[in-house]
Amino acid sequence: MAEINTISGNRALQIEEKLIFELGNPGSVAVDLPEPAPFDLERLGDAPRRGRVALPDLSEPQVVRHYTRLSQKNYGIDTGFYPLGSCTMKHNPRLSEKVARLPGLADLHPLQPQKTVQGALEVIDTLAHWLKALTGMPAVAMSPAAGAHGEWCGLMAIRSAHEDKGEGHRKRVLVPESAHGTNPASAAMCGYTVDPIPALENGRVDLAALKAKLGPDVACLMLTNPNTCGLFETEIVEIAAAVHGAGAYFYCDGANFNAIVGRVKIADLGIDAMHINLHKTFATPHGGGGPGAGPTVLSAALAAFVPVPYVVHGASGLELVEGKRDGAKPFGRVKGFHGQFGVFVRALAYIQSMGSDGLRQASSDAVLNANYLLASLKDELSASFDGPCMHEALFDDRFLKDTGVTTLDFAKAMIDEGYHPMTMYFPLVVHGALLMEPTETESKDTLDQFIAVVKGLAAKAKAGGVEDFKAAPRLTPRRRLDETLAARSPVLRWKTAAE
Ligand SMILES: *Cc1c(COP(=O)(O)O)cnc(C)c1O
Repeated sequence: MAEINTISGNRALQIEEKLIFELGNPGSVAVDLPEPAPFDLERLGDAPRRGRVALPDLSEPQVVRHYTRLSQKNYGIDTGFYPLGSCTMKHNPRLSEKVARLPGLADLHPLQPQKTVQGALEVIDTLAHWLKALTGMPAVAMSPAAGAHGEWCGLMAIRSAHEDKGEGHRKRVLVPESAHGTNPASAAMCGYTVDPIPALENGRVDLAALKAKLGPDVACLMLTNPNTCGLFETEIVEIAAAVHGAGAYFYCDGANFNAIVGRVKIADLGIDAMHINLHKTFATPHGGGGPGAGPTVLSAALAAFVPVPYVVHGASGLELVEGKRDGAKPFGRVKGFHGQFGVFVRALAYIQSMGSDGLRQASSDAVLNANYLLASLKDELSASFDGPCMHEALFDDRFLKDTGVTTLDFAKAMIDEGYHPMTMYFPLVVHGALLMEPTETESKDTLDQFIAVVKGLAAKAKAGGVEDFKAAPRLTPRRRLDETLAARSPVLRWKTAAE
C-alpha cells in the first residue's frame, strides 16, 4: 500500500490537531467585554501586570472545534470493542449517568451540614451495605479513591492490626509474580519489603513455594483472585489457612470481582481485606485517569481499624464519624471528605437496577464471553494454560514463533483494523502476553467480528506478512511513537518561538 500524504496533513476527516497555543490568532475574541474601568493597583497588592497573559486569542467556533475534535480522539468503550485485559473496561449504563447527574446528588457541597445531606449519607450507607452483602464481609472502608488506593488502605489496616498486637516487626509482604504492578507498589508505600512468589505451570500460585516463604516476619499475602492470568486460584482456602497459621493476614486484590459477583462470597475464602474497583465492576466509565473508587472490605480481625469517616445510624439520623468511637481504632483518614461520591451513586444505581439475579448473570456472561474468545482463538493463537478461564483469556506469543512478528506488531496491526489492542506483555509470567477481556455486554456478533479479525491477522503473520506488521499502524494520524522516550522525557510545557 502506497503512503498517503495529504496537503493539509489531515487524514480524511481526522483533522491534524495543533495545540491550542499554536491555533491562537492575536486579536481574536470569543466574548465581547467592555474595556475595564481604570482601577487602583493597590487593591492587587501593587503588583502591576508585567506582560501579556500567555493565553491564546481564539474565536468561539475555534475553541468549540478544538475541544470537540480532541474529545473525538478519545477511543473508549462507547466507541467500540475494547478488549483490554486486567482492567475490566466495562460498559457504563446510561441509567447510572442519569442518576449521578440528578441535581440533588450532583450539586451537593461536601461542607454542607450533615442534616441537609441525609440522602447522600444514605447513598453511602446503602452502597456499603450491598458491598458487605456481596462479599460477606463485616466492614468496609468507603473512601479510597481507586484500586491502588484501596490496596494501600487495606495494608494500612493490616499494619495497624499487627502493631496493635505488638507484632509491628512483620515487614515482609508476599506477592505472586503475576500480580498487577500496584500490589508491590502499595506494599512499598506502607514500608514493607516485597517478596515474590512463583507461579506454577498451570498459572496458579505455587502453594509449596508460598508455604516455604511464610515466617514470623511476614505481614500478609497479597493475592489476586481471579488472578491476572484469568484463572481462579483453586487452592485459595488452603492458602488462607497457611497464611493465617503463620500469623499473617490475607489481602486479596479484588479488581477482577466482575468475574465472581453473586457466585463467590469473599468471606468464605478466608480473606481479611479486599478492595473493589467500583469502576471495573459496578459501572462508572473507566480509563483515561477518570475518577474511580476502591472501597475496601475488611474481615472481623481488621474491622476496628477502618479509616474515618464512615456512616453510622445515630439518634438524629445518619452521621459521618470523623474520630475515635465505640472501641474503634481507625488508622486515620485516606482522603479529603468521604470518597468519590459520584462513583458511589453510579455503583448503587447499577447494583440496584441489576438486582442480585442480574449481578449473578452479569458475572456468568462475562465468564462465558471470555471462554468464547478463548475457545474460538486457541487453535490459531497459543493459549497459555489448559482448560477454561474466568473473565479474561490469556495467550502468549508462541503462535508468532519464526514469523518475525512480535506481540507489539500484532497489537499495532489491530489498530488499523479498528480495534483497540488487548493488553500486551502483561502478566509477565508468560512470554509476549496477549490478554483479552470482553466483559458481559459484548454480543456474540461483536465477538465473532473481532475473532475473525484476530484469526485473519494470525494467518497473515504465519503466511509471511511481517513487512505489513512492522509498518502498522498505517492508517492513524500518528504511527509508531517512541513510548519510552515519551514516558522518560515528557514535554509538558509549550514554549513560544521567543523562548
Ligand atoms: C486495575 C487494577 C488495579 C489498580 O486499580 P486502579 O483503580 O487502577 O488503581 C490493581 N490490580 C489489578 C489486578 C487491576 O486490574
